[in-house]
Amino acid sequence: MDKIKLNAKNYKTSVPIVWCPGCGDFGVLNAMQQAAAELEIPPENLMVVSGIGCSSRIAGYINAFGFNTIHGRALPIASGAKLARPEMTVWAAGGDGDGYSIGTNHFVHTIRRNADITYIVMDNHIYGLTKGQVSPTTPRGDWTKSTPLGNPDRPLNPLALALELGATFIAQGFSGNVKHLRELIVKGTQHKGFSFINVKSPCVTFRGRQEFNVVREHGVYLDENHDPTDWNQAHEVTQWKEKIPLGIIYQVQGVPTLDEIAEDLRRKAQDKQHFESTKDLLEIFR
Ligand code: SF4
Repeated sequence: MDKIKLNAKNYKTSVPIVWCPGCGDFGVLNAMQQAAAELEIPPENLMVVSGIGCSSRIAGYINAFGFNTIHGRALPIASGAKLARPEMTVWAAGGDGDGYSIGTNHFVHTIRRNADITYIVMDNHIYGLTKGQVSPTTPRGDWTKSTPLGNPDRPLNPLALALELGATFIAQGFSGNVKHLRELIVKGTQHKGFSFINVKSPCVTFRGRQEFNVVREHGVYLDENHDPTDWNQAHEVTQWKEKIPLGIIYQVQGVPTLDEIAEDLRRKAQDKQHFESTKDLLEIFR
């Protein structure tokens, strides 16, 4: 029997979308659905895990196994899902408030373990669901409901943080360019290891529609002059102040993934089923 060709519509659900009209997250949803179709991932082999926030509702909007978890905890749950079912494609998704505040520790350790999942962060520089408080990526000096005198803190730089922590795939996209974002998600999903995609995804309600223009004016698409295998070049790009890099910033292959390490440990443990002493038991970790 001929294989049925999947398209983006196969990944839509009947769950009503409650995002504000014009929210950047619509572009991310479209890009994820298109990427799933391009990769021909049967919905039953795809899992989308999210945290809490406007963008985290996305787990219910994609026809796949969806798990809208708890605040900041998408990554450990996605890592566990991948360990349990390594044959599945696992995407984690959420916002900057979810992933870079309460979720930061999981961001650090998921990168360290190189879990073979793709993490898509809809970075809008604000807490949208709770109605407009300062987030870890709000620019310094910006007015928000919780910083009426302007944000006194320096914003977190998630791209630089991921690079320093040893992430094996780092990219940045824009929800206003679905085609480009779809390509990043496809490449991130094909990457063996932790793929991190930060997406400039404006919150039109609490930061205004001009945020789209900010990315259009300052966004620079990385071309063949950028070598994503060169850590120093990647580092330079993550330090840009006026320009916003868009594309694959860094990618390194061949780093063992969490599920590969777990499988290796499992095999070693099976080989040594009759441990004579604690010392023997510890040998399997060497
Ligand atoms: Fe999108 Fe902002 Fe509305 Fe939330 S509050 S749905 S982030 S526009």
